[in-house]
Amino acid sequence: MSTTTANNNEYRLDGIYKQRQEGFYMQRVKLPAGVISAGQARAVATVSTRYGHGSIHLTSRGNIEIHWLKEENLSDIKRDLAKAGLSSRGACGGAVRGITCGSQDALRFPVLESTARRLHRHFTGNPRFEHLPKKFKVGIEASVAGGRHLIQDVGLVLAGSEDGRHFYDIWIAGGLGREPRPAFLFKQRMPEERIIPIIEAILKVYATHAPSPKRLKFLAGEFGETKLSSLIEEEAAYHEEIPMTSGLPEELVSSPDGRQRLELQVFAGALTAGQFEQIADAAETYADGMLMVTANQDIALLLSHGVDGATVTDALQRSTGLNFAASVPTIRVCPGSHECLMGLAPSRDVGRELTGLMGEQGRNRIWAISGCPNSCTQPQLADIGIVCSALHKEEDGRRTPRFDLYQRTDAGLGTRSAHDLTADELFTQVRDLG
Ligand code: SF4
Repeated sequence: MSTTTANNNEYRLDGIYKQRQEGFYMQRVKLPAGVISAGQARAVATVSTRYGHGSIHLTSRGNIEIHWLKEENLSDIKRDLAKAGLSSRGACGGAVRGITCGSQDALRFPVLESTARRLHRHFTGNPRFEHLPKKFKVGIEASVAGGRHLIQDVGLVLAGSEDGRHFYDIWIAGGLGREPRPAFLFKQRMPEERIIPIIEAILKVYATHAPSPKRLKFLAGEFGETKLSSLIEEEAAYHEEIPMTSGLPEELVSSPDGRQRLELQVFAGALTAGQFEQIADAAETYADGMLMVTANQDIALLLSHGVDGATVTDALQRSTGLNFAASVPTIRVCPGSHECLMGLAPSRDVGRELTGLMGEQGRNRIWAISGCPNSCTQPQLADIGIVCSALHKEEDGRRTPRFDLYQRTDAGLGTRSAHDLTADELFTQVRDLG
């Protein structure tokens, strides 16, 4: 099928969405556990420069998006990314999405990364796990701190290791969007050789019972947790084991082992291709050639032994023109109406405005802004989350955004503390938060 005749749903399975600007597309690149090599990062930057506007967007699921691409270049882009060993299959649409990990700073991250790679390899591009009713998200975490396991279709939380075997608690049927629902604990301490078959069983139940475009959480609501669990346990795959492969370690980022971890804060996850290339070069020189896209849309480098973080930061500030040393608040921001077809509000502009209004307390909190109720930046997991919930028609005919405010005060999902705020009302509330 030529790119001009493929329909948009097929494009989605290749990780491509239409942008809100007519004739432009976004390509998402799947990174298992957010890890990308310096060479791959340069390939992404080159694609953005050659075919797009030279911009890079880091997502809160540790993926990368390249915007402003033309339809006639999509096949060449796929080839260029594949040459660098990168895959976009299933990065959008009804498929098992990129395997995310918000615990890149954990001591056990190599265990999580190798599990993420195994799942990525198994579920990416396999037609049995495509054309699902909607997206299917899997996340792997070192602990329940941060609550990221609550928002996945399948959230794996490391429950311990014995004699080289790793065990995971399995949380299922969580998700955000218009009807957030926290995942429930399905199974405790399952050995890693059971994880892939169990996810296959969950996918079978999901594909069989959920209507399009519902997520797995819909079945938890319709059937209840007990019945959904029973249906999964009745699947043949649920009882299977896939022996772990032996051989060399699968992870690309080795154990921290006393090394310094450098986190480069990137406002709204937005970089130019040139800046991304400079960071890739620094990773090559100072961090064993590997970068990590974090769950807060930043970039982390695990520095080689003996490398001083301040030296690397200084060098990067000079080469990129970014000020990583400045104390900027952690603020996750989606593309919103700048580029996203679904966007109701210009999220980056809102984020910039808010950053200027925050007091001392605000700057120490984690923020997230989503340009529509899809909640891609996970506002219900931030200390303070902002969702553009609707457009309001004013008397003069203009359509202006309305915002909901979420605050997270315990280990669950944040709850809505204000609804339908105008931009001015939102800014006042943020100022009042200190
Ligand atoms: S939250 Fe909405 S506007 Fe923002 S990236 Fe997701 S779908 Fe687009």
